[in-house]
Amino acid sequence: MNENLKSMTMAEIGGVLKELGQPAFRAKQVFTWLHKGVKSYDEMSNLPQGLRAELTSRYPICAPEVVRKQESQKDGTIKYLWRLSDGNCVETVLMRYHYGNTVCISSEVGCRMGCAFCASTLGGLVRKLEPFEMLDQVLFTQIDSGLPISHIVLMGIGEPLDNFDNVMRFLELVNSADGMNISMRHISLSTCGLVPKIDELAKRKLQITLSVSLHAPNDEVRNTIMPVNKAYPTEQLLAACRRYYAETSRRISFEYAMIHGVNDSAEHAKELIHRLKGLPAHFNLIPLNHVEESPLKPSTRDAVAKFQKTLEDAGIPATVRRTLGGDIDASCGQLRRKYTKERSAPANSR
Ligand code: SAH
Repeated sequence: MNENLKSMTMAEIGGVLKELGQPAFRAKQVFTWLHKGVKSYDEMSNLPQGLRAELTSRYPICAPEVVRKQESQKDGTIKYLWRLSDGNCVETVLMRYHYGNTVCISSEVGCRMGCAFCASTLGGLVRKLEPFEMLDQVLFTQIDSGLPISHIVLMGIGEPLDNFDNVMRFLELVNSADGMNISMRHISLSTCGLVPKIDELAKRKLQITLSVSLHAPNDEVRNTIMPVNKAYPTEQLLAACRRYYAETSRRISFEYAMIHGVNDSAEHAKELIHRLKGLPAHFNLIPLNHVEESPLKPSTRDAVAKFQKTLEDAGIPATVRRTLGGDIDASCGQLRRKYTKERSAPANSR
């Protein structure tokens, strides 16, 4: 069982408090305070002193510390590098869209999926994040920036469906009416395509948007850039997407990183159209963000525009993702990677 009160539901906190001889109404008080981002029980002014002291010794409140904060001069995007209580670091990005302030949060420290173009996976998986560590990213980004957060995307470091139970618990917590109360319809979860977990997610019938990182129209291409495709090839993945739609009636959003000479030809676009027939979908075309360690290069603007037009002409809505925060290393894993590299470099080379 989670030993951190901030990872618990209100009912579970009630159970803990009952064992400490407390009345039922205290659960809501504690839950509400924790979800306001207090850093000490002494801030919980409506709790008796004795209880505050007892909780302090039994259930310390953890909060992440800001290690780096970078703000884009161009578009107001803010990137945070947080240090967690065990010293590990994760990133959160705050993006300011016309429809609301959106945070992109991490679900793991590192990642074990091994995608060839992604900075987050270079050092492998260190550990999964606890529910409260995902909640804290939303909470403390809101507190530090002073900007109210209305939307969340699970598109930072890590594979959310590889940390399934903790991510489900996080969604429940952040959606709670007595907490941050962020609507499920304002939350997107992105996966590289863990088929059994997509089926498990479908059964929950959440109103979130499922984003699938497809990045290729067939196994031949996808096998070269995403090792996960060997376990769950495109046919199985697309079948799972169809089942997901049948179960939830939620349109799937596909992410497609456009990589020069790899997945960006007219033939690739036509093959995608053919394979997606009958599945309501939306495409997010992302010009590849170049990662230092990788030989892969972004597609040309012309190739991206042509690809978009081919999909649109076939009735598949496709948007080219506006790249925010390009001046602050604001894509997946880049800031953490830079920081870790700097720290491990010999002192004289810094
Ligand atoms: N593990 C999840 C979520 C993390 S990344 C997933 O795979 O979906 C969010 C998105 O950014 C994914 O679509 C991922 O494939 C993409 N991505 C990672 N590195 C990228 C890069 N260098 N350029 C463009 N997109 C990238």
